[in-house]
Amino acid sequence: MKLVLASGNPSKLAELRALLGERITLHAQSEFGVTDAEETGLSFVENAILKARHAARASGLPALADDSGLCVDALRGAPGLYSARYAGHHGDSAANIDKLLRELDGVPDAERSARFVCVLALLRHAEDPLPLIAQGIWEGRILRAPQGSGGFGYDPVFFSPAHGCSAAELPSDVKNRDSHRGLALAQLRAQLTLLR
Ligand code: IMP
Repeated sequence: MKLVLASGNPSKLAELRALLGERITLHAQSEFGVTDAEETGLSFVENAILKARHAARASGLPALADDSGLCVDALRGAPGLYSARYAGHHGDSAANIDKLLRELDGVPDAERSARFVCVLALLRHAEDPLPLIAQGIWEGRILRAPQGSGGFGYDPVFFSPAHGCSAAELPSDVKNRDSHRGLALAQLRAQLTLLR
C-alpha cells in the first residue's frame, strides 16, 4: 500500500517509516508538491484530520497525518497544539526549548509533569467519512536543562521515568517503539485490517 505522509517534518517521516514495515510505503507529501495545510483545529485530532484530508485531496492517494505535541501541566497544557511554533518560528527547537525552560523557571520537579501526545489520522481518500484514528500518550516530566543529542524537538528536555533518561538519550529504536508516536502507530496497525 502507498500512503502519503501529510507532514514536511523529516524526523516524523523517518520514525514512522521505521515503524511501518515493508507492507506500506510512506511518501513525503513534498514528493507530490503538497504544501502544509492550515492547522486551524482546536484539538490534535481535528488538526490531524485537516492535514490528512488536505494531503489526500492534493495527491489523490490515501494519506496519513500525525499531529503531535507536548502538554505541560504547570502551563495548563501548553505548548500543546502550538508546540512546533511555541517561540514564534515554526520548527525552531532550540528557541522552543529556551522558552519552555524560562516559563518553568522555579517550578519544582514534582510540578513539572508533562506528556507527549500523538494523534494519527488515516484517510483512504479526501471524502473518507470513516477515518482511522489512533492516539498515543507518553508520560514524563520537563528537565531543568537539555540532556542528550538524539531525537528532535523537545526530546532533550523530556525525561521519561519509565526509561530513566531523556527522550534524546534513548536509542532511536527504543524511542520509536515506546514513544507517543510508537504507541499511536501500534493502535493504527491494529485497525489497518479494516482498510479496504
Ligand atoms: P506538528 O507538526 O504540528 O504536529 O508539531 C509537532 C511538534 O511537537 C514538533 O515540531 C515538536 O516540537 C513537538 N514534538 C512532536 N513529537 C515530538 C517528539 O517525538 N519529540 C520531540 N518533540 C516532538
